[in-house]
Amino acid sequence: MNKFYSLFIVGSLLVTFGCNSHSSHNQSDSQNENAHKEQHADCSHAHWSYEGEEGPENWKDICPGYSACGGNSQAPINIITSDATSNDSLFKLTTEYNTSNVSVVNNGHTVQFNVSGENYLMIGEKKYKLLQFHYHALSEHKINDAHSPIEVHFVHKNNDTDFAVLGFMFKEGKEYDLFSKYLTQFPTEKGDFVSEDVIDLKELIPSNLSYYNYSGSLTTPPCSEVVNWYVLQTPQEASAEQITEFSKILHNNYRPTKPLNERKVFSYTE
Ligand SMILES: [Zn+2]
Repeated sequence: MNKFYSLFIVGSLLVTFGCNSHSSHNQSDSQNENAHKEQHADCSHAHWSYEGEEGPENWKDICPGYSACGGNSQAPINIITSDATSNDSLFKLTTEYNTSNVSVVNNGHTVQFNVSGENYLMIGEKKYKLLQFHYHALSEHKINDAHSPIEVHFVHKNNDTDFAVLGFMFKEGKEYDLFSKYLTQFPTEKGDFVSEDVIDLKELIPSNLSYYNYSGSLTTPPCSEVVNWYVLQTPQEASAEQITEFSKILHNNYRPTKPLNERKVFSYTE
């Protein structure tokens, strides 16, 4: 694993997702990798996907800057709830969320809301700024071996080596307000949708923030192992039609679960 190079690009990737579908890693360059590592650490021309040659099993080999994808502390994982232990050092999560303009981008890997304004997740004394949230279908985390139809990730950053991602599942039920308003506007291919509207971020997350916690990684290249994961125990609801429509757009954009290895999963109940 090459932590330095993956960290080098993690910041820009989270914001721009520079994946160019018209170019791919040139295999003949691999013999010069050591001499040109810095160039290769810029993976903006590397292309990855969720299936085939450029799929999750091969991410670690697509670009040297993606070597962390082969690491031992990767996400997502299968959370076995009976193995999750409580721990006195865990904090209650507090969100200081306000409103954000609506800016939705389909970057070819996910549908993502880029968040504006000052919105924070407080974990003890630490303050993490909300950057964006995006969706996966099926869910990336499994809970007791089971996927949910959709999972959302609220990505927060304290610094370049300290991210906190709040994830939660969607189950079938009543309509989810954000989807009722904007699902028909979500770009079905690469592109974006921007409106003058503002959304109240507090209304998007469950009111109960009981969670499972473990140390892991980004679930997309460069897979940097810089993420404190907080997978909420309470799902949100979306209607069967909303789940079906959104899943068509997201197109199986989930990374299969990775081994827990030496890590522990903790549980915090509000
Ligand atoms: Zn994600």
